[in-house]
Amino acid sequence: YGTEASLQKEDLTTEGNSFKGHDMLAPFTAGWQSNDLDPLVIEKSEGSYVYDINGKKYLDTLAGLWCTSLGGNEPRLVAAATEQLNKLPFYHSFWNRTTKPSLDLAKELLETFTASKMAKAFFTNSGSEANDTQVKLVWYYNNALGRPNKKKFIARAKSYHGSTLIAASLSGLPALHQKFDLPAPFVRHTDCPHYWRYHLPGETEEEFSTRLAINLENLILKEGPETIAAFIAEPVMGAGGVIPPPATYFDKIQAVVKKYDILFIADEVICAFGRLGTMYGSDKFNIKPDLVTVAKALSSGYLPIGAVMVSPEVSDVIDSQSSKLGSFSHGFTYSGHPVACAVAIETLKIYKERNILDQVNRIAPKFQDGVKAFSDSPIIGEIRGTGLILGTEFVDNKSPNDPFPPEWGVGAYFGAQCEKEGMLVRVAGDNIMMSPPFIMSPEEVDEVYFCVEEPRFIPSLPAFA
Ligand code: PMP
Repeated sequence: YGTEASLQKEDLTTEGNSFKGHDMLAPFTAGWQSNDLDPLVIEKSEGSYVYDINGKKYLDTLAGLWCTSLGGNEPRLVAAATEQLNKLPFYHSFWNRTTKPSLDLAKELLETFTASKMAKAFFTNSGSEANDTQVKLVWYYNNALGRPNKKKFIARAKSYHGSTLIAASLSGLPALHQKFDLPAPFVRHTDCPHYWRYHLPGETEEEFSTRLAINLENLILKEGPETIAAFIAEPVMGAGGVIPPPATYFDKIQAVVKKYDILFIADEVICAFGRLGTMYGSDKFNIKPDLVTVAKALSSGYLPIGAVMVSPEVSDVIDSQSSKLGSFSHGFTYSGHPVACAVAIETLKIYKERNILDQVNRIAPKFQDGVKAFSDSPIIGEIRGTGLILGTEFVDNKSPNDPFPPEWGVGAYFGAQCEKEGMLVRVAGDNIMMSPPFIMSPEEVDEVYFCVEEPRFIPSLPAFA
């Protein structure tokens, strides 16, 4: 089938308008793509669908970028934004001045988190800024406690925590580090908890988790526990390939982290608000974090907003030190932006009123079981996921040790065929990921099956090679 580049040229050239060689330095896009290919220009959205500038309709199985939980045209969110724009389009939250929507959202948001107690919320514009904020909060906390050396962070290989300097450093994806002089020197990475790919012969999931917890403990001991400030993890790893934790993983990891007085940060940017069928990933895996990061579905992606939630212990230390350390000198012009907060308040209200967890749990088994039924395909190594998040990995011989040659562009081919057929998925190498809107209907799930069961989409190996 040729290279990724030639495949995309063949398969993705759109009719009509051309924006080849456009003026945007596009995020996570290669220069040759912007210059040689027409971008897919999305113009309109409706429920689980988006439409491109030529009027073609696509089932958006990634909910934008894992975020449009309520679909593409929820009128109540538009109304909430409009009302707030008419009343007060902007005021900030610095120097003990603020707005009512930001105060109300902080209260509402804290009430949604029950896995452990959270005392305060800090608002940002994105998940990346929220994770950068986590690092500064933890440093401030340890400075306040007179522990200036307890500053290192442990994250995991294949994690994604954002793309600002610190968030990209925490992320465990080499592409985010190469050519950017990252990761920053205070970050260490421990094992990716992907059982299928990394377990030893004969090792059970529980044994695999035990081994990873021992490796984490050894890393902490090697670095010196007095130098490790925090551990950060996504409950289900998202952009790294949709990797749910193996059995007993978080129990064992949390025990190690607690033993050495290391704070636990749950990066719930993808998992929060129902995606896994529980309000938070922390609820599903019995995680009791000290700090929580959210974004994306907080506003159903309609306006940029992220947040950090802080436990009473951390918040008390920060508050009590203010006479010594002065104000908490961190924040953004748009921290607690009133319009974004108004939309987020309405989003949380809708989740409650419509029993969004029931809705996700009604549709998730059909989505998971239906797609996993394709696991027998000779070129699929693993289909994994839970709730409304799913990843599929293409390999040869059904083995994680036999990847297809990258120049075959297997994942890119699959993604291009889906796009042709009217379905958008996330492609990363030979990984295909989906995280549809929470409002996806059974008929829309049938459409997913239709797209993936087409014989040309999952060809037999001889024809494919
Ligand atoms: N954390 C996780 C788990 C994410 O998935 C993402 C975004 N995909 C981020 C952080 C960064 O969020 P943003 O793109 O809003 O900066």
